[in-house]
Amino acid sequence: MSKKTVLEVNDLSTHYMTSKGDVRGLDDASFEIKRGEALGLAGESGCGKSTLAFSLLKMVQPPGKIVKGTIDLDGIEVTKLTEKQARKKIRWNKISMVFQGAMDILTPVYTVGQQMKEPLKYHKGIEGKEAREICVEYLDLVDLDAELFDRYPHELSGGQKQRVIIATALLMEPDVVILDEPTTALDVVVEARIMNDLKRLKKELDNSSIFITHDLSILAEVSDKLAIMYAGWIIEIGSALDIYHDPKHPYTEKLMAAIPTLHEDIDRLEYIPGAPPDLIRPPSGCRFHPRCHKAFDKCREEVPADRMVDGVRVKCHLYPED
Ligand code: SF4
Repeated sequence: MSKKTVLEVNDLSTHYMTSKGDVRGLDDASFEIKRGEALGLAGESGCGKSTLAFSLLKMVQPPGKIVKGTIDLDGIEVTKLTEKQARKKIRWNKISMVFQGAMDILTPVYTVGQQMKEPLKYHKGIEGKEAREICVEYLDLVDLDAELFDRYPHELSGGQKQRVIIATALLMEPDVVILDEPTTALDVVVEARIMNDLKRLKKELDNSSIFITHDLSILAEVSDKLAIMYAGWIIEIGSALDIYHDPKHPYTEKLMAAIPTLHEDIDRLEYIPGAPPDLIRPPSGCRFHPRCHKAFDKCREEVPADRMVDGVRVKCHLYPED
């Protein structure tokens, strides 16, 4: 039986209005996530990954604004919600986020437990002993002892703090959890433990997740589906396995070639020359054309439409349009 779609995004665009012009942080993003599915979002810094995440939570701050598109989160149209409605209806209980550098967001003057209990009280009116029991259950889920509930953040290691944040994000059993660079600040041993925890939790809880990282080797571990972003566009999206084994977009090809491997004798790692474009005045036609090794005349003139190639959606003139 096919699984239910929990999140459907169509033509979503989010821009930042500045005195120099509109920064096109995200343009025409479309995708869906089914229950239990993990979507990996990858691309260079500034490609729109975090803008997309903040848009899904309706948390884009001025001068940023969702200018177009729809976000259907389990039947709720997120773009139409006021700030108060978004806080009450979707954040934490329908969609939650582990922010970049999340371990630094714990307030030093409150215990772990005081901070974890907040969303339970706000959304479900659960307090006292019952709230404690639920929090301890989720601490256990991320492999942390119950005694951490009464500790202050400075008494925890970086990995423990990160797991507290992950436990808190799961506490309200949201349909979708967004993890923005969940292991970036951690050493490789702690990173591996947390990634194993996340893989186990995905099986146990059957929730949907969005992993954001520029580290493609991490996404290979956890994603069912992969979306590659460049300059505010999703330029390739499809099954993670298909994209790993046979990337279609020239940008994805180069990204994959830049992953170091232990087993192959490589003299030199691949890299992509140049820098991401200015998103106030992005390049004409395909935004990747100034850096693309396969660019031809049409790429400089026409914005490529999305097309399906072997089950993967690709934004590139190299392939025939549907
Ligand atoms: Fe390269 Fe052209 Fe494809 Fe853009 S549309 S990725 S410039 S080949």
